[in-house]
Amino acid sequence: MFKKAKENAPCLIFIDEIDAVGRQRGAGIGGGNDEREQTLNQLLTEMDGFEGNTGIIIIAATNRPDVLDSALLRPGRFDRQVIVDTPDLKGRIKVLEVHARNKKLASEISIEAIARRTPGFTGADLANLLNEAAILTARRRKEAITMLEINDAVDRVVAGMEGTPLVDSKSKRLIAYHEVGHAIVGTLIKDHDPVQKVTLVPRGQAQGLTWFTPNEEQGLITRAQLKARITGALGGRAAEEEIFGHSEVTTGAGGDLQQVTGMARQMVTRFGMSDLGPLSLESQEGEVFLGAGLMSRAEYSEEVASRIDEQVRLIIEDCHQDAIRIIQENRTVIDRLVDLLIEKETIDGEEFRQITAEYTLVPDKDRFVPQL
Ligand code: ZN
Repeated sequence: MFKKAKENAPCLIFIDEIDAVGRQRGAGIGGGNDEREQTLNQLLTEMDGFEGNTGIIIIAATNRPDVLDSALLRPGRFDRQVIVDTPDLKGRIKVLEVHARNKKLASEISIEAIARRTPGFTGADLANLLNEAAILTARRRKEAITMLEINDAVDRVVAGMEGTPLVDSKSKRLIAYHEVGHAIVGTLIKDHDPVQKVTLVPRGQAQGLTWFTPNEEQGLITRAQLKARITGALGGRAAEEEIFGHSEVTTGAGGDLQQVTGMARQMVTRFGMSDLGPLSLESQEGEVFLGAGLMSRAEYSEEVASRIDEQVRLIIEDCHQDAIRIIQENRTVIDRLVDLLIEKETIDGEEFRQITAEYTLVPDKDRFVPQL
């Protein structure tokens, strides 16, 4: 490859998934991988071998820059790193424009509106979104993609395939209370993202769903926002407890509780947001690379471990009490919203807020909308 490049200089060499050959040498359980290490050594030698300006530029891509051999990143080799994060609003508009080129969009469609609905989507997600919308359009025998197909496609990409709603039954009522529980807590806590819609139409694994409008600026999250999210996520279970009693609560809150525990634990061990003080006790979760020197254990004693557990429990219990209080204080409007939800199957955020505002004060959630 390098020989060919030199013959054709000036030229660019692009290596995709560089971690396949560029992984740290001598790492991994059961010793290294000779063939891979030879490839890497050869690569390092070639990159050093360029005399002056030979007109060859090497670009490589990886999702795992953390596992690369440090020799690769030395000056003279890959000495510049460009981090490609998920696209921001402007980026998403540009990506969508590219993928929309070969599709027929109705004139009413605003690419900007789609981009606003999709913070956190990667380029691949956006491509998938427009493909799903095109498939739905064909299935509905329409001439061009409308906003309806786009919205259905966003829901599908985020939460999975749509199922058939349950017939009216006790479990449908329970799911309705659970979802309204999430939505009312999310609506009445000032630091929570606003409700976008509540629905009893199942999707993927979920029997019902409450959608919140995500914030564009995902950068920094305050302690109040984290606690608001935990409280909101506990709203479903709190409603089940209050309305149906402790013995009738269901497994439906399993996913919520997992999320809640994860968030509370990070507040304690990573963000220094508990009585343990500003300590970083754990690195980012999900680092399961079994490489040399990376199999480090938790760097705290068992005593600290039990204090962490205690703090996690305290945060969750505090939020749980808040959620229960909100459910108790707003029982009348919750009952009305549940009846409406069972009748209509979906309530959008605006209507949800209007009805709630007839009974209690709904905090304003004007949020920063980035300017283009
Ligand atoms: Zn839930």
